[in-house]
Amino acid sequence: MRNFDQNYIDGAFVAVTGDEVVDIVDPATEAVVGQARLAHRDDARRAVEAAMRAQPAFGRTSVAGRVAMLDRLQAAMLAHAGDLLEATITEYGGPVARAQWVANDASQCFGDAARSLPSYAFERRVGASTVVMAPVGVSGLFAPWNSTAGTMASKLAAAVAAGCATVIKPSELSPWQAHVVARAIHAADLPPGVVNIVTGRGVDVGAEIGTHPGVAKLSFTGSTPTGKLIARGAVDSMKRVSLALTGKSASLLLDDADLEAVLPLALAAAFMNSGQACVAGTRLLVPRARMPEVVERIRSAVAAMRVGDPRDPATTIGPMVSRAQYERIQHFIRRGLDQGATLIAGGEGRPDGRDRGWFVRPTVFADVRNDMDIAREEIFGPVLSVLPVDSEDEAITVANDSPYGLQAYVFSADADRARRVAARLQAGTVLINRVAPDLLAPFGGVKQSGVGREFGVMGMEAFLEPKTITTA
Ligand code: NAD
Repeated sequence: MRNFDQNYIDGAFVAVTGDEVVDIVDPATEAVVGQARLAHRDDARRAVEAAMRAQPAFGRTSVAGRVAMLDRLQAAMLAHAGDLLEATITEYGGPVARAQWVANDASQCFGDAARSLPSYAFERRVGASTVVMAPVGVSGLFAPWNSTAGTMASKLAAAVAAGCATVIKPSELSPWQAHVVARAIHAADLPPGVVNIVTGRGVDVGAEIGTHPGVAKLSFTGSTPTGKLIARGAVDSMKRVSLALTGKSASLLLDDADLEAVLPLALAAAFMNSGQACVAGTRLLVPRARMPEVVERIRSAVAAMRVGDPRDPATTIGPMVSRAQYERIQHFIRRGLDQGATLIAGGEGRPDGRDRGWFVRPTVFADVRNDMDIAREEIFGPVLSVLPVDSEDEAITVANDSPYGLQAYVFSADADRARRVAARLQAGTVLINRVAPDLLAPFGGVKQSGVGREFGVMGMEAFLEPKTITTA
């Protein structure tokens, strides 16, 4: 049994003062594997105050000093990759291959930030003035449960690069993963108060960070409804706000696509992270004439997917994070059936042979219309909707007919044609014939998928503000 009852505040692990204790449940077995005491609003306040004390000196550190800190963070995260792997598998149910990627990716963002920092022009001449890109100030960083370490690390890398002290609020569903990241950060030996971590519920700990007048900037990753609450709460003290929110990504299979080559990519996009991914390509738009062939290929590919023990390297789809998430997915599968979509793989209930664990059957619906719930709402599980379309124009119209616009995918044998299609898609990112993200390029949403960009130099700029100095 693991026990987590400390926050990380002012460079030290200190006892949580909150009195709510939650079980940590292994989603693959439903066994209680630990407990966590959740932080209280007062803990959040102490964390903000520590960051406020650290900010003035940290905001004046040299670029070389911050590069050294980022290098230490990268090394420390790498040194904790094994612990993070264990936590991600046991607490979250992440399949080992994905969990390994998470552990490495979390360290990589610090290295990327360290390498891009020295060439950044913090001071420029504009007109007759000097413009200084100054750190915005104490920053509240919010992470969701489906990407705990990655979100904590990528936001922290950008904030440290910019010179902002931080208070991080991981999800109450991931105290173990958050604790491992906290230990890594502590090992990196940053000045006290530059990083503070309080794991608690959104309604008190999150709300305290989100409205505290000492916090200048909020960088939030999570669902669109919570993002709206964050934005409303931030306005009174005019905090700068970046929101990375819900997605319902479209994958466009153009009529010239080589199915043998690209269908595995489209399925990887749909089922990545066991479907619990904001960027999952869960609306696959297929030329009507190619539907029979696509359906056949999908049937056999999904039949070959391994759902099960996340520790088994052959597993591609692990359990959902919690009973609530399992139930949510079952609800959407029932909605798909009720609204008349054609089930071609999977369906309700657990996979055969499993009576414990929050496992769902990888599920694919064909003949989906874009007005069905399964096409409009983010399911956040391994459920793919296949929509037939009659032309490239219709595919673009259907792709854009969504309140969301995070990441789209285009699959085609003709890269120029794919780029022309990409230009017409309403999405923050379009990946052509690939699924892997470019972690140096800006990432974020349009429409209700968010505001602002993360990653790379533009991600750091979200923590900077231009200050104009004009001399007589
Ligand atoms: P969520 O919105 O429930 O929670 C996100 C974070 O906000 C958590 O730390 C939570 O405790 C906190 N929170 C909740 N209520 C709050 C409140 N009232 N005030 C302040 N903080 C509050 O999201 P989730 O269920 O943890 O994560 C899944 C969602 O995140 C999905 O919609 C997914 O698409 C989205 N997501 C988006 C991206 C992206 O980059 N766009 C990445 C990962 C996940």
